[in-house]
Amino acid sequence: MSLINYQKIKKELNNRQKLIAVSKGQDISKIKKLYDLGHRDFGENYLQELIKKSTILPADIHWHFLGKIQTNKVKNIIKFSSLIHSVSREKVYQKILNTDVKEKCNFLLQLRLGDEDSKDGLSPEELINIVENHDNESLFCIKGIMGIAQNNISEKEKNNQFQICRELFFTLKENYKNIDTLSLGMSNDYSLAMSYGSTMVRIGTKIFGERK
Ligand SMILES: *Cc1c(COP(=O)(O)O)cnc(C)c1O
Repeated sequence: MSLINYQKIKKELNNRQKLIAVSKGQDISKIKKLYDLGHRDFGENYLQELIKKSTILPADIHWHFLGKIQTNKVKNIIKFSSLIHSVSREKVYQKILNTDVKEKCNFLLQLRLGDEDSKDGLSPEELINIVENHDNESLFCIKGIMGIAQNNISEKEKNNQFQICRELFFTLKENYKNIDTLSLGMSNDYSLAMSYGSTMVRIGTKIFGERK
């Protein structure tokens, strides 16, 4: 674990940017170290692991759900997360809307990057269609978009993918008052993502070291 990297990343953030420390596959003791430094936003990918950690760790942690979502787990993912980043299919979005919630449910729509059919995420058309038809007075709040740039692509292609996220984000932000979040950037590309307007970077290994 590198607290030096943690402090360095914190210094790079401006006041509209947030660091999500991605703690999947990491020990409770490491999470506790950051918590003791005042950090409150952590990211997880698997529901069982999230439930376990959130039961053990302090209740004022904001858990961010970043993993693939199976529709049968939506109810509990909502229950244990303060922001869901990875709504990547229309079916999952519909399932969220059909969940009985008592308080506000915040989520992001994941934009597909790269053109392989198998890649996760909504196409720009699908994503815009959801935002345009969404009931903004409901308890379900679309806060913005999430992107995962492909690995092993050229610098040029990565810039391209971040640019696509940036343009879509700013277009939506101008038109919809709830939209204020662009979740973009991981350990190996967060600085670049920040330069493209990212408001949330999701960083795991650079802070915690290799995952189990
Ligand atoms: C695991 C994960 C991260 C963190 O990745 P690192 O390379 O360890 O920083 C960020 N975002 C998502 C969606 C992830 O699944």
